[in-house]
Amino acid sequence: MRALEGAGTRTGRAAITDGKGGFILDRVSVRAPIGDEVRVALGAAGVCHTDYASLSWDGPLVAGHEGAGWVEAVGPDVHDLDLGTPVLLNWAIPCGQCKQCETGHANICERSHGIDPENLGSSRAGQDHTMWQGQSIERAFNLGTFAEFTLVRRSAVTPLLPEIPLEQACILGCGVMTGVGSVLNIAQPQPGDSLAIVGCGGVGLSVVQGARLAGVSKIIAIDLRQDSLDRAKHMGATDLILVSPSDTSHDQLTAQIKALTAGRGVDFAFEATGVAALAFLPLRLVRNGGMAVQVSGAHGPVEVPMPWFWWDKRYVTPLYGGCEPDRDFPRLMRWAVEGALDLPSMISKTYRLETLDAAIDDMLAGRTAKGVVIFENGRSYV
Ligand SMILES: [Zn+2]
Ligand SMILES: [Zn+2]
Repeated sequence: MRALEGAGTRTGRAAITDGKGGFILDRVSVRAPIGDEVRVALGAAGVCHTDYASLSWDGPLVAGHEGAGWVEAVGPDVHDLDLGTPVLLNWAIPCGQCKQCETGHANICERSHGIDPENLGSSRAGQDHTMWQGQSIERAFNLGTFAEFTLVRRSAVTPLLPEIPLEQACILGCGVMTGVGSVLNIAQPQPGDSLAIVGCGGVGLSVVQGARLAGVSKIIAIDLRQDSLDRAKHMGATDLILVSPSDTSHDQLTAQIKALTAGRGVDFAFEATGVAALAFLPLRLVRNGGMAVQVSGAHGPVEVPMPWFWWDKRYVTPLYGGCEPDRDFPRLMRWAVEGALDLPSMISKTYRLETLDAAIDDMLAGRTAKGVVIFENGRSYV
C-alpha cells in the first residue's frame, strides 16, 4: 500500500445541472479524503433515465450516479484499498448501522433514504467535498459520476475484478443491479416459470438477463420498438410482442399474453418504462396469485381499478433490485467474467463528457440500450 501523504485537492471537469432540464460542463475541485473517505478518478459512467430527471431537480448538482474508476487517494482510516484499485461506485450507500442495513436490506438503508435525515453524514462524504465557483456543491445520489473525480465514503465503493473493463463494469451500479436483482432477489422465479417485461431499455434488458439466469422458460419481451425487442431476444427473451401504438387500452396485449400462457397470464410481470400510466399494467398480465413488479421508479398519480389486484396478486416496487452490495456485486462480476451475464451487448455506444448531451438524447429517443461516458484521462491520475 502506498503512502497517503501529499494527496491534495484535485480539479477536474464535471457536468453540473441547472435545475431546468439542462447542464453545463465546468471545473470543480474535490478535496483530499479524510477519515474513511475514498477519492475515485472516474474511468466510465453509465447514462440512466434518472440522470435526465436529475437535470430538473433542485440544484446545482454534479450529475451522474453510475460509475466506475480507480482509487486515487484514501483517508487515513481506509486500510483495505490500494491506490489504483478499480472500483464500482454504489449510489445506495449503506450506513451499516440502521435496522435495514443490519437485516440484509442495505438498498433501503434508513439513513440514505430519509428516515433519519440528520444522520445522512454516516453514509456520505463529509463537508465541502466538492467546490464549484467558490461554493460547496452537492452530487446526484452523493456520487456525481459525470465528473473526473468524486469523493465518497469507503462503503460506497466495491473493488472490481480486473478482468471486467470499466466501461462495462460501470453499468452494474444501477441498471444491471436493478433489473437482475429485482428478478433474483425480489421475484425469485423458479425454473420453468413464465415472466413478461414491459419496456426493453437498459433495466428491461437486465430483467431479461435475470430471468435467463433464473432458468425462466418463457421470457416475453414487450416494447413499442422492434430494435429494443431484437436486443431482448439477444439477451434471452423467448417471445416478443411489438405493441401497437393504437392498443391504448392494452386489451390486445393482454390477449396476446393470455394466448402465450394457456389463458392464465404469466407468473411474473415487470414494468420498466418509467411511464406512470404503465406502472400498473403488469397486474393485468399476471395470473391469479402472480407477482407484478414495477422497477422503473415511475412517478405521478395513476388511477387503478381494484379488480386488477384480484385474485391474490402482489404488486411490489423494489428499490435497486434489493441490492446488498457485499452479496450482489461479487456474484454479478463473477457471472460477467464467466459470460453468464452479458455486459458488452448492453452497451450501445460510448461518449465523452463533452458529448453527454448526445448520450442523453440517444437514450430518450430509444436509440441506445445503455450509453456510457468514457473518461480518457482517468487512469493517468493514479
Ligand atoms: Zn443503514
Ligand atoms: Zn440509474
